[in-house]
Amino acid sequence: KKIIITIDGYSSCGKSTLAKQLASRLNYLYIDSGAMYRAITLYFIQQHMDWNDPAQVRDALGNIRLEFIHNQISGQSDMYLNDENVEQMIREMLVAEKVSEVAAVREVREFAVAQQQKMGAGRGIVMDGRDIGTVVFPHAELKIFMTADPAIRVERRFKELYQKNKNITLHEVKENLELRDYIDANREVSPLRKADDAIVLDNSQLTMQEQLELVMQWVEDAIMA
Ligand code: C5P
Repeated sequence: KKIIITIDGYSSCGKSTLAKQLASRLNYLYIDSGAMYRAITLYFIQQHMDWNDPAQVRDALGNIRLEFIHNQISGQSDMYLNDENVEQMIREMLVAEKVSEVAAVREVREFAVAQQQKMGAGRGIVMDGRDIGTVVFPHAELKIFMTADPAIRVERRFKELYQKNKNITLHEVKENLELRDYIDANREVSPLRKADDAIVLDNSQLTMQEQLELVMQWVEDAIMA
């Protein structure tokens, strides 16, 4: 039996790392829902749009095509926006600074959620994000809500971004994570929440190996249930 696994939580708790490991162990499809909000944000920035204007948002969404395409070299999926590979660009600070504002827009969420539900229909998937267990797949067989010590999260994200951009500062990364978490948890449309039936995973003190073994046990239980 193939199941749906959802992983939600605050920024930089290690959701995508775990999701990729699970997908590869189980031979499931991994879908990074945050990449979709990031790609939409990139498009809005490029078009100099006012995302507080619903009419402009609706028009723009009509011109956006999002796809995940397998990359032979990295072995992972890259985000494509209207046939362009934007995987690198969507990880930059420029996008990170605006994505939570854009993701709070009702029309944007409706657009993204509909596509996420379609991508996951009828197969084994692991999807990570903020509202996957609550809104996108409320009937998922296994829901995980990840948390980690804020200082550890900042450190991790900083290391990741610093590899690509030596000008980035710890302070800047900390401010961005705090701002995104605040907006994500307090927006009107599907705010970040733990689903009632989600299992909490605090990985501050776990090695990656310990975490994977623990979660694989939950997966086996969910498949047997
Ligand atoms: O997961 P990631 O940090 O790449 O997501 C970027 C942003 O996209 C989040 O801070 C949040 O504002 C938004 N997001 C969302 N719902 C999701 C996934 C991401 O609102 N399911």
